Amino acid sequence: MEREELFAEFVVIGSGPAGQKAAIQAAKLGKSVIVVEKDVIGGSSLNSGTIPSKSLREAILDLTDFYKRSFYGKQAMTANVSINDLNYRLNKILEEQRKMLHKQFEKNKIRLVQGSARFENDKTIVVDGRSIKGDVFLIAAGSKPRNPMNIPFDNEKILDSTRLLAIDYLPKTMLVLGGGIVGCEYASFFAALGTEVTVIDKRAHLLPLLDEEIGTHLQKALGDLGLKVVGNVEVEEVVRKNKHVQVTLNNGETLEAEMLLYALGREANVDQLEIENAGIDLDSKGYIPVNTLFQTKVPHIYAAGDVIGQPALASTSMEQGRLVARHAFGATTHHFPSFFPIGIYTIPEISSCGYTEKQLKELGYHYEVGRAYYYEIARNLISGNDPGLFKILFHAETLEILGIHIIGKAATEVIHIGQVAMSFKARVDYFIDQVFNYPTYAEGFRIAALNGMNKLKHKK
Ligand SMILES: Cc1cc2nc3c(=O)[nH]c(=O)nc-3n(C[C@H](O)[C@H](O)[C@H](O)COP(=O)(O)OP(=O)(O)OC[C@H]3O[C@@H](n4cnc5c(N)ncnc54)[C@H](O)[C@@H]3O)c2cc1C
Repeated sequence: MEREELFAEFVVIGSGPAGQKAAIQAAKLGKSVIVVEKDVIGGSSLNSGTIPSKSLREAILDLTDFYKRSFYGKQAMTANVSINDLNYRLNKILEEQRKMLHKQFEKNKIRLVQGSARFENDKTIVVDGRSIKGDVFLIAAGSKPRNPMNIPFDNEKILDSTRLLAIDYLPKTMLVLGGGIVGCEYASFFAALGTEVTVIDKRAHLLPLLDEEIGTHLQKALGDLGLKVVGNVEVEEVVRKNKHVQVTLNNGETLEAEMLLYALGREANVDQLEIENAGIDLDSKGYIPVNTLFQTKVPHIYAAGDVIGQPALASTSMEQGRLVARHAFGATTHHFPSFFPIGIYTIPEISSCGYTEKQLKELGYHYEVGRAYYYEIARNLISGNDPGLFKILFHAETLEILGIHIIGKAATEVIHIGQVAMSFKARVDYFIDQVFNYPTYAEGFRIAALNGMNKLKHKK
């Protein structure tokens, strides 16, 4: 029997942020586009990563009346939020987003082919017995949680970040292995729900990528939520013991909890692709190597998003995908920006852009620091006094802004004001000479700039 054969000028594997934005951009450039997806539309971003985790965060803050604490004490928080309350909201959001994506694909005449893709050669993929030929390919197959053999995942008590979304009860105690972004975000969500959470990490501090002062602030805020950190230890064994999970550490200590979240890394989704048939090899970490234009060593096959490794964010994956389509089809383009914000949605949230203080010291910059504490910001007091900090690092002579680090409510939104200022090479006194809406969180930029500039004056 002859195999059915399809053709598109642009063939995309994966419908996550990288694949979506590439497909839409190519369609806008007048190209015929096929997106192949083996699972539900939207990628891990929509179905198991970014959107579910941020939806749960928002639901937890809202349903527990989290920000009432500062006015009426902890007893004002609603204690009995159920998993059904959380899932109800989550499912509504996911359904809406999936519908919206289907609409966007239809509107742009993007054909969605359901099934798992594998390369037959550099011009053909096979999806469930159908051949799809293309001029240009994008591998946007994303990533999945790392599941080492020695961890007995069971979909009930020993979970990764995908399996966690299927739980049918909220645990009273929880162990989180890994103090990276995913581990810290979920640890803080459950702590806000009243679960006793312990994060275990081989490093002394959580999220070492952060500016140290912001990291200290985070650790304090998480401690206030009741979260415990066991640092400088390695995990030797994880076993299920009846209704509990037991973890043995390399210092001989054992810890027990009702549930365990394993959040120690992700790996590229490449096992079904047979990319060797297209003449492409993986790097030593299992990612697809690309040049600065996201081309693999086969120039008409591009790769973008989590499948190429760091920074592995939905935000960066989207832009990588868009740039791929622009480059592949001859539209004006630019290189991927070397500087972009990072948002971490712990409770409290964090966002940063540019250098940390440690990096500035290592690079020998003559810099000054301006700080605004959240208790100085009127808008924060009105909204429920979140502990937080704005920190601006700027050049002590040229006043150029070198880094912005914010922890506290709205950090992931207001960082973009700083990002724009930095992109346009604004000096720190820009924030002083302009009038800002009042009361707003953005006032933090102004207070921090004044604080920093005053220090300079005193030094002169
Ligand atoms: C818990 C969690 C929270 C996160 N929070 C954030 C956040 O707040 N902000 C942020 O920017 N990023 C966040 N991320 C990261 C973000 O989700 C990823 O960076 C993003 O999803 C990567 O997009 P992608 O398009 O590369 O791949 P994905 O979103 O992983 O999509 C890849 C798609 O390809 C499909 N696929 C794979 N192989 C095949 C095949 N052979 N054939 C057909 N289809 C295939 C998969 O089914 C999947 O649908 C988070 C991640 C996690 C896990």
